[in-house]
Amino acid sequence: MAIVAHPDDIEFGCAGTVAKWTRRGTHVVYVVVTSGNIGTHDPAYTTETLAAAREKEQRAAAAICGVTEVEFLGYHDGEVMPSLELRKDLVRIIRKHKPDVVISMDPTMMWGGSNYINHPDHRAVAIATLDAIAPVASMPLMYPELGAPHRVREVWIQWTEKPDMWVDISETIDLKMQALAQHKTQVGSDTVEGLRHWALEAGKGLAPAETFKVMMLVPREEKVEQRVDTTHEQELASREKTTQSAGSD
Ligand SMILES: [Zn+2]
Repeated sequence: MAIVAHPDDIEFGCAGTVAKWTRRGTHVVYVVVTSGNIGTHDPAYTTETLAAAREKEQRAAAAICGVTEVEFLGYHDGEVMPSLELRKDLVRIIRKHKPDVVISMDPTMMWGGSNYINHPDHRAVAIATLDAIAPVASMPLMYPELGAPHRVREVWIQWTEKPDMWVDISETIDLKMQALAQHKTQVGSDTVEGLRHWALEAGKGLAPAETFKVMMLVPREEKVEQRVDTTHEQELASREKTTQSAGSD
């Protein structure tokens, strides 16, 4: 699951990684907190028509990366706060879809480099997302009306200045660019082409990459052990079957 503030945040941030995951059979859901309804200088749009256009663009971008489920929470663009209301909405979504991994934005990022002040909606969504994941979504006495508690195993923070995970997106950089190009109300061909350059820069010139700070809230070994257990059980069951059929002969 990827939780972001605006349509296009995923395409700039993690779409190459998402496309890799969906190609390998992972089910991914996008959660977009606002529909980017103030993101234009074009007087032809109202906030309603722009939101509709941007939701359509986001769904088209998602489809290119193998994602068919997109949840829009309908918050007003530019005014998102890390409120209890948003935290609760995200707990509802997390308990509904039960993701193993959540990709979030970086709540600590006030600026990037020396020419970009991070959008307040990005920080607000990131704070609410992390607060929803830990501990609220996993606590049975918090919002019992929102469904069974759920533990998210890993959080991957995109657009961070201090990454510790580099994902090689050589095989999906073209899909990432195609996905970003769907956001016609936002980007031109120069920006789309710029993605290739930024991805290479992120990959230190070795390969196009996306970078993350990864937190493992549930150790991966736990998952491996579970897998081993299942295989072991299956083996036992098949041995039992063989023994039974051998006995009946
Ligand atoms: Zn954004």
